[in-house]
Amino acid sequence: MAEAAAQSSAMRRRETACAKVNFGLRVLGRRADGYHLIESVLVPVDLADEISVEVAPSRDSRVDFECRVAPDAEGVEGFPEGKSNLAVQAADAFLKESRRPLAVSLRLLKRIPVAAGLGGGSSDAGAVLRALDALVPGALAPHQLASLALSLGADVPFFLAPGAARVEGVGERLSPIRGFPELSLVLANPGEGLSTGSVFEAWDSLAPALTAADPGSTLRSLSDWLGLDPGDSARRKLRLREVLENDLEESARRLCPSIDRIQRALLEWGADGVGLSGSGATSFGVFASESKAKEAIRQFALRGDGWARLARTLPGR
Ligand code: ATP
Repeated sequence: MAEAAAQSSAMRRRETACAKVNFGLRVLGRRADGYHLIESVLVPVDLADEISVEVAPSRDSRVDFECRVAPDAEGVEGFPEGKSNLAVQAADAFLKESRRPLAVSLRLLKRIPVAAGLGGGSSDAGAVLRALDALVPGALAPHQLASLALSLGADVPFFLAPGAARVEGVGERLSPIRGFPELSLVLANPGEGLSTGSVFEAWDSLAPALTAADPGSTLRSLSDWLGLDPGDSARRKLRLREVLENDLEESARRLCPSIDRIQRALLEWGADGVGLSGSGATSFGVFASESKAKEAIRQFALRGDGWARLARTLPGR
């Protein structure tokens, strides 16, 4: 995932900050502090931001930040360009926790659409922590790094070392899934951002009782699906629907009714199954081949609203 900058000394690193999709999401309850307990399978995909992190000795700690939107990006707007950007917050928190006076310089190239359920901000934060951990080895113990990541956001621990994983709790309990397949996806968004907080609030008002799902159901459906004969496409499609079940979908649809239209279109254009990523509004279709996924993109372009792009799940660990 990381690669030292070719010409650099040990003081600069370039990181790829990938997006994620959720293969299913169950809301299992709510803690007394209002945080929701979830179970999900997070899968990294090849749509990514790029971030360069440089550190230099300094009398005092400071973080300097520059950000650009990639020319091929869509849906990348409305993210903070200053102190409240999660990349900057991650660097600030690292310097504070490690008590190292360093000058950190961050250069971010954004490509992951914002407030789309694809984890862009969390991924940038995870990438900054990864880079600083490599550039200042031993500044924080692994458990300190992990709790710092969680303090920045529920998905940040996943992005410290992205790889398909089952996620539990509020996002802090991660179990790697080995050998997750490389799949062709189409990510599609109606062109609207959705705030995660408002989707959970809508879930609270719709479902004061806990979901009927049993803990463990996400992973069980996934292993059943992965274990099916690849030739048995009818059963695979049926089982994929269970895998992709997302308890936040109903509340996300109420706030953004176009999700329904996007998902129906993806199925019409040949997806084997369709899921909502996180709290949306991005949906994704799972396609049997890249050529089928490309054909769906072509259909989407003809219709011309929102955005759609091809993606692949990143190879398993
Ligand atoms: P969540 O992690 O809340 O599910 P998401 O994946 O739907 O988020 P993000 O793109 O991470 O969406 O944006 C969530 C919010 O974080 C946005 O309102 C945005 O203004 C803010 N934000 C802070 N830093 C960043 C960043 N580096 N990139 C994108 N958004 C950021």
